Amino acid sequence: MFASTITKPEERHALVIGGSIAGLLVAQVLTKYFHRVTIIERDYLSSQPEQRPGVPQAHHLHVLLKRGLDIIEQLFPGIQTELAASGALAINASADYLWYGLGGWSPRCSSDLNVYSLSRNLLESMIRRRLATNNRVVFVQAATVTNLLSNPEKTQVTGVQVRQKLDDRQDTSPKQTDFTADLVVDASGRNSRAPQWLEAMGYAPPKETVINSFLGYASRLYQIPENFQADWQGALVTAKAPGTRGGVISAVEGNRWVVTLAGIGRDYPPTDDAGFLDFARSLRNPIIYEAIKSAPAISPIYAYHRTENSWRHYEKLSRLPSGFVLVGDAVCAFNPVYGQGMTTAALGALTLDECLNKQLSHHADGNLIGLSQSFQKQLSKIIAVPWLMATGEDFRWQTTVGGRPNLLTQLMQMYLDQVLLLAAESAEIHRLFLEVMHLLKPPSVFFHPHVCSQVFKRIINKSDKKWRRSEVIYPS
Ligand SMILES: Cc1cc2nc3c(=O)[nH]c(=O)nc-3n(C[C@H](O)[C@H](O)[C@H](O)COP(=O)(O)OP(=O)(O)OC[C@H]3O[C@@H](n4cnc5c(N)ncnc54)[C@H](O)[C@@H]3O)c2cc1C
Repeated sequence: MFASTITKPEERHALVIGGSIAGLLVAQVLTKYFHRVTIIERDYLSSQPEQRPGVPQAHHLHVLLKRGLDIIEQLFPGIQTELAASGALAINASADYLWYGLGGWSPRCSSDLNVYSLSRNLLESMIRRRLATNNRVVFVQAATVTNLLSNPEKTQVTGVQVRQKLDDRQDTSPKQTDFTADLVVDASGRNSRAPQWLEAMGYAPPKETVINSFLGYASRLYQIPENFQADWQGALVTAKAPGTRGGVISAVEGNRWVVTLAGIGRDYPPTDDAGFLDFARSLRNPIIYEAIKSAPAISPIYAYHRTENSWRHYEKLSRLPSGFVLVGDAVCAFNPVYGQGMTTAALGALTLDECLNKQLSHHADGNLIGLSQSFQKQLSKIIAVPWLMATGEDFRWQTTVGGRPNLLTQLMQMYLDQVLLLAAESAEIHRLFLEVMHLLKPPSVFFHPHVCSQVFKRIINKSDKKWRRSEVIYPS
C-alpha cells in the first residue's frame, strides 16, 4: 500500500470543485475537519440571488424536499429564519400544495411537512452567504478546474490545475494556477470531467447507467395578479402514462409564480407564448392554465432537455486515487421531476461527514487512505433509494430508454398504482406518500400490513362495485 502525504492539522486544506448546492453543503462539512476549504467556481458569484451560466437549471422550479431542508438547517442552524426573512414562503406541503395525481385531487391534510417555496437562486445565495461567514472558507471565482494534480506514482490526488479569468471586463488572458490540497471534492455537476481526469491518471473511468425518459421542461415567471384569490400556494398536475404532460405552479418570493411545464418522450413544451399556454391548457387539469392565462409574464420562457437519470458508478471501481471524492450530480443526476437532486446532495454531505469522522478517528494523523472507496460505497447506498423511485416511475413510459422494468418492477408499479389511487381518497395515505416523496420514509412503508390491507380492501370494494354495476346494467 502506498503512503498518503500527511499534513499538519493547522495546514490541512480541502478543495471543492464547483460552488453550487452540492459544493456549498460539502464545504460546510469540510470546515469541521480541514483548516482551510477552497471552493473553485467557474462563474462569477454575486452577493445577490442572481442567475448564473453554470446552473442553467435555476430558471426552473426547484422544490426543496423536507429531508433536504432539515439537513441544510442542521448544517447552517437558523437558516430557515433567514430564508423566511428573505421572502421564501413557509408552506405546508400537504395543506398548501395541491396534488393532482393518478386518481385526481388528493385530499389536503395537516402534516409535519413544513417547507419553503423559493427560487433556486435565493436558496443558493442564502447558503453561500452563510458559508462565506466561515473564516476557514475561501471562494475562488471565475476559475475553471482543468485537471487534477497527482503524486508521481499517480496514487494520490494532490490538487487541481485551474484556469482563472483575472478580470472579465478587461480583456486579460486567463492565468493558469496550481492549487494543492489534501482532499479534492468534485462537485462540478452533471458535466463533471472527472472520468476523463481519472483516465488521464491511468484509472478506469466509471461505468455509467443512463435511464432517459426524454423529459423536457419549459419554465416561466409570472407576477401573481393582485386580484388573484386562491387558498393554495402551489399545484402539481402529474402526467398519467401513457399521457406525457404535466406541470407545476408554485408561488415564490417576490409575489411571483414559477410555472414549469414538462413533457415526456420528447413531447417538449414550446417556448413561444401561445404554445406555452396551449400546453398548460392541455394538462389533465386546467388549474395552471386558469391561473396564468391572464397573469403578467415577467420572464422569457426557458427550456431544459438534459434530464436523464445518470449514475456514474465510482463505488464499483476497483481503484481510485486517495485524496479524491465525488458528490452531487457529478455522481448521480436524477430526472428532476421528482425534486430529489438537492436533497440527495445534502444526504451526500452528511455521508461525507460520517466517513471523515470515522477516518480521522482511526487516523488522527490525517491519513486519508481508503476514504475515497469507503465514501463512494456509502454514497451509493444513499443514492439507491431516490434512483429506484425516479427510474421506476420513468419506466412507466414506453419511450424511456436505458433498460426495461423486470417482472418484479412491473408488479410493484401495479401495486403502487393502487397506493396512488388510494392517496386520492385517503388523507392518511396521501400524507404517507408525500413523506416518501420528501425522502423522510423509505418506499417500503407502502408494503406495511396496515397500508396493504387498505389497498386490498379498496381493490375488493371497487371490483365488487364494478361487478354489481355490471350485474344491474347487463343482467344475465
Ligand atoms: C431542470 C432541472 C430542475 C431541477 N429541479 C430540482 C428540484 O425541484 N429539486 C431538487 O432538489 N433538485 C432539482 N434539480 C437538481 C439540482 O439542480 C441539482 O441536483 C443540484 O443543483 C445539485 O447539483 P450540483 O451542485 O451537484 O451541480 P450543479 O448544480 O450542476 O453545479 C455545478 C457547479 O460546478 C461549477 N463547475 C462546473 N465545472 C466546473 C469546473 N471545471 N471548475 C469549476 N467549477 C465548475 C458550475 O459552474 C456549477 O456552479 C433540478 C435539475 C434540473 C436540471
